[in-house]
Amino acid sequence: MSICPRLEINKQKLVDNTKYLVDLAKKDGIEIAGVTKVFCGEKDIAEAYVLGGVKYLADSRVENLIKLQDFDCEKVLLRLPMISEADKVVKYADISLNSEIKTIAALDKAASEQGKKHKVIMMVDLGDLREGVWKTDAVKYAGEILKLDNIVLYGIGVNLTCYGGVIPNESNLGELVNIAEEIEAKYDFKFEIISGGNSSSLDLLMSNGTLGKINNLRLGEALVLGRETAYGKDLEEIHQDPFQLVAEIIELKDKPTVPIGEIGMDAFGNKPTFVDKGIRARAIVAVGRQDVNVDNLIPVDSKLSIIGASSDHLMLDITDSEHDYEVGSEIRFNLDYGTLLNLSTSQYVAKKIV
Ligand SMILES: *Cc1c(COP(=O)(O)O)cnc(C)c1O
Repeated sequence: MSICPRLEINKQKLVDNTKYLVDLAKKDGIEIAGVTKVFCGEKDIAEAYVLGGVKYLADSRVENLIKLQDFDCEKVLLRLPMISEADKVVKYADISLNSEIKTIAALDKAASEQGKKHKVIMMVDLGDLREGVWKTDAVKYAGEILKLDNIVLYGIGVNLTCYGGVIPNESNLGELVNIAEEIEAKYDFKFEIISGGNSSSLDLLMSNGTLGKINNLRLGEALVLGRETAYGKDLEEIHQDPFQLVAEIIELKDKPTVPIGEIGMDAFGNKPTFVDKGIRARAIVAVGRQDVNVDNLIPVDSKLSIIGASSDHLMLDITDSEHDYEVGSEIRFNLDYGTLLNLSTSQYVAKKIV
């Protein structure tokens, strides 16, 4: 028997997803940065992206980029660097996303000390209101960055559908391209990268066939869960289940659906309510809120339903299932992005590549 609970990673499915999206984007001259943060930059998993043909590996944390250092593709730091980590950023990231001149100056100093040039993608805020130089300041800001000797203004980028939920379209991505062209004309150079966002830009690419002069996308969720994120649609051509949670049944009994006695609070201080469905077959599986946000787990056996969970126990109603579950049987779950993130960071959940 394999260890439970475990996050099972089907590497071939991840390679398939990557290859499909890399090829799709390539038709429009777009290179993919494979985003590894949702699986904490684990090298053996990230290898699937490399096999699938991504040009860059990208993560929001330097700790994760360190795990990826043996791959010979360029590494991108996605989260704006902290000034306190400038040395490490220059050491382990070839490229970083930036919006603060004070930070870029610190990177310039670190690069000088390490005898390196550090590449910067200037992030522009087109209205989603997470990171980025405000769009009307972008041209001037680029001029400031270009004054630094050890910094290469390598690209310009935008992040959408993260905080504000703004959907990428021809108008806002067109605006990014316009800003890029204005900067190129004014300072007489060419951006290597014009990065048009994350998995939320895929729907536009797939419906339009083009994103204009955008030549880079940073994809995480689309690769790991086969889904675009502007509307949350599954991409039918690829897999939604390269990652699954597997947990083990530790109790299996018929029980009533309404507790017996006066109802106070549950383990998390909420007053629970119940619908009487009579006696039902219930399974307890050994996984709980300590490991994962159980509310978004999707049982692969669609006849199972989640009744509730405490820190270490997940209760399932298995009455309608056609499978003969026993104590010791394994139950599989499909995942959403947040749930996958929880599982990746949980020290109680084993990771197994199959
Ligand atoms: C996480 C992240 C991405 C990837 O987003 P997905 O929706 O998972 O594709 C891209 N860019 C930045 C800056 C990020 O932080």
